[in-house]
Amino acid sequence: MSSQPPHATLLIPGPIEFDDEVLQSMSHYSESHVSPPFVNTFSEVLVMLRKLFQTTDPSAQPFVISGSGTLGWDMVAANLVEPGDEALVLHTGYFADSFADCLETYGVKATQLTAPIGERPQLDDVEKALKEKPYKLITVTHVDTSTGVLSEIKALSELVHRVSPDTLIVIDGVCSVGSEEICFDDWGLDVVLTASQKAIGCPAGLSILMVSGRAIERFEARKTRPTSYFGSWKNWLPIMRNYEAKKPSYFATPSPQLIHALHTSLSQILSRPLSARFADHRAASLKIKKAVTALGLQQLASKPENQANGMTAIYLPEGIAPPDVLPSLVKKGVIFAGGLHKEIATRYIRFGHMGVSVTDAGRGDIERAIGYLEEALGEVGYKVPK
Ligand SMILES: *Cc1c(COP(=O)(O)O)cnc(C)c1O
Repeated sequence: MSSQPPHATLLIPGPIEFDDEVLQSMSHYSESHVSPPFVNTFSEVLVMLRKLFQTTDPSAQPFVISGSGTLGWDMVAANLVEPGDEALVLHTGYFADSFADCLETYGVKATQLTAPIGERPQLDDVEKALKEKPYKLITVTHVDTSTGVLSEIKALSELVHRVSPDTLIVIDGVCSVGSEEICFDDWGLDVVLTASQKAIGCPAGLSILMVSGRAIERFEARKTRPTSYFGSWKNWLPIMRNYEAKKPSYFATPSPQLIHALHTSLSQILSRPLSARFADHRAASLKIKKAVTALGLQQLASKPENQANGMTAIYLPEGIAPPDVLPSLVKKGVIFAGGLHKEIATRYIRFGHMGVSVTDAGRGDIERAIGYLEEALGEVGYKVPK
């Protein structure tokens, strides 16, 4: 039994439902951020992140900094590119527009390569774009939370290494780290950025990054200073290295309570093989997608190879809008999200299926959510086609 007060189950693409133990670890008594016990906890968090990202390369460096996922974009823009540099942004939905806007804020020229809604840019198009200009970096949204489109990171990374070997490969993994497989070393990635509140299952408030040795060298070879102060790796790199080596160190005060929560969620995630965790997410996702199809509904990502395993974006039937079903779903006991892609936001809803709602089958979250969705649609006159 959960010790949390009764509440509608939060099945949006982040934040997700929290495990009791994760929440309880935040009610830790106050600690100094430079005390040996806290520094030890921080060190263990960084070591566990290496496992989650499947990297054993000592030149790679994990970062955990107070902020949300968005701070990861700012750190990439402020540390890895300089004003006037060119970046290629692969567009699979809302989050690419925002990452491009962030890069532009720092004076970087962002070129977007788009695809129709529910699709992803194809490898040939990416190859063509990379041959046109020497891009300093390419950004890819691993799972676009606005469309549920999954990108093919391994193949993209191979392509970039072959066609444009100096281009850094930056992955926005805010909606994928913890629910989709990521092999940082084997796939040759330079940055994977994420946040605490999505598939990692920790309260919001932490920006988490894994950065390759190559990206750190690129940072160190900058001609101009980083274009952020709080987000400058000049400030954070020594701190992260010190924390990991269990040496107290200070640049800006971390949140000990959130670090404790992250320690607990990472310990839970790593208590069994990562492959089993990803298989659970795939199985739950297949079940949901099958149920959606059985209800006669379409997904934004229509091709199975384009579909994320931690969320599903579902078109509502003709004539039914999100406000017709979302409030009644909340009353029944499940919270889904509305549409986010600006061109079609009023036509679809998003169902997040990550973390404990998937790995703790005893909760029954997924089955209940599918049942409620069918009921809510029926109540507004929808009939499942035979
Ligand atoms: C949620 C999300 C973000 C933004 O993260 P915040 O924690 O809301 O700042 C960025 N990219 C993707 C793919 C996301 O899903």
